[in-house]
Amino acid sequence: MKNHVWQPYCQMKTAPPPMKIVATEGCHLIGASGQRWIDGMASWWSACHGYNHPHVREAVTEQLARMPHVMFGGITHEPAERLATRLAALAPGDLNHVFFSDSGSVAVEVAMKMAIGHWRRRDRPGRTRFLAFHNAYHGDTTGAMSLCDPQRSMHARYSDAITQQFHVPLPRDESFEEELNRVLSEHADSIAGVFVEPLVQGAGGMRFHDVETLRRIRDACRRHDVLLIADEIATGFQRTGKMFAVDHTAEDEHPVVPDILCLGKALTAGTMSMAVTIARTHVFDSFYDDDPGAALMHGPTFMANPLACSAANASLDLFETTSYDIDRLESVLRERLSVLRELDHVADVRCLGAVGVVQFRDPPKMQRVQEELVQRGVWLRPFGDCLYTTPPLCIGEDSLHQICDAMIDATHATLPSGIQLR
Ligand SMILES: *Cc1c(COP(=O)(O)O)cnc(C)c1O
Repeated sequence: MKNHVWQPYCQMKTAPPPMKIVATEGCHLIGASGQRWIDGMASWWSACHGYNHPHVREAVTEQLARMPHVMFGGITHEPAERLATRLAALAPGDLNHVFFSDSGSVAVEVAMKMAIGHWRRRDRPGRTRFLAFHNAYHGDTTGAMSLCDPQRSMHARYSDAITQQFHVPLPRDESFEEELNRVLSEHADSIAGVFVEPLVQGAGGMRFHDVETLRRIRDACRRHDVLLIADEIATGFQRTGKMFAVDHTAEDEHPVVPDILCLGKALTAGTMSMAVTIARTHVFDSFYDDDPGAALMHGPTFMANPLACSAANASLDLFETTSYDIDRLESVLRERLSVLRELDHVADVRCLGAVGVVQFRDPPKMQRVQEELVQRGVWLRPFGDCLYTTPPLCIGEDSLHQICDAMIDATHATLPSGIQLR
């Protein structure tokens, strides 16, 4: 290999060559000589209905023959209009205005521009910065990167080159809630919005928080009149058991309705790159004016790509016709993985919806863990101090057990030397 392909998050000099995949089927990745691995990652949370679903394939194939792409500036098309209407109906409250983009990171950038523009139109032009939480991950572009945890992300390597934002601990209890309120009130003139990954923080550490924490964040945003921006790029589309993680508050007297919602990853059922930023009406209305200068200035070349829209519409069809038993997935993950708590080098085991996480105290070499998993017919990609699974929602019980077996075996097989079963 001549390194023509530069791999992501990869030390190209020392990393072993990546695994070559030639086909996918159901919940499986297939190698060149026909080896099969269960994809316990669902391709980074995205392949929610598994791979090569015939309904998605038919929709995209039909769209490919009819109209693969047109620019979206001054033009519209049925797949985009239909998708926007359906997403507006699914999203809580008056989250009704859908802005298309081509990746999750860009959806976050768009949310930042929406929030800044919103305050500009409301005579608060100094509000150009954001608050996010420790262990947050919001994407890899420079704006999104500034929102990521300043220690546990690449933020630190670029800190002299990116905007400085505010980072505080999640308000898990009242003292952290005080800190959140203190920062919001001290910097009321500069903070436009608060970014949160509701209930599950993904790539910044696979940490969970409860619904009460989410309510506290919403209350703080209201108190200080800043926008609440929910990044559900990972948690959206039933990953936590509800269509969106904020829907866990749907039964509340005042459900949490973020001012802006970002979706991506599973949006197109793992087939094509697309994301959306959905605004509530009061945010949309800030830009809605006779003044052309008030418009939202953004528009990716491949915005609302019809192929991606048709895949997303097909995926929503499947959510309408299929009921996934996410509670069952959660209880299998919980029952099976909890044995690992017995190990001294395991700090925590936690499960929520279709997410199962083993966090190490004294991480074994993750490369070794991954080799063990691959030998056992399971594809997972551990990172940092976590080994985790986010399987396709359609995964069968046998395959889910195989993922758990592999996680358990790999954790045992790679005990740091000298560490014994407790
Ligand atoms: C993956 C992810 C992003 C970035 O999405 P990309 O499509 O990779 O740019 C942003 N926020 C969260 C919470 C994510 O999990």
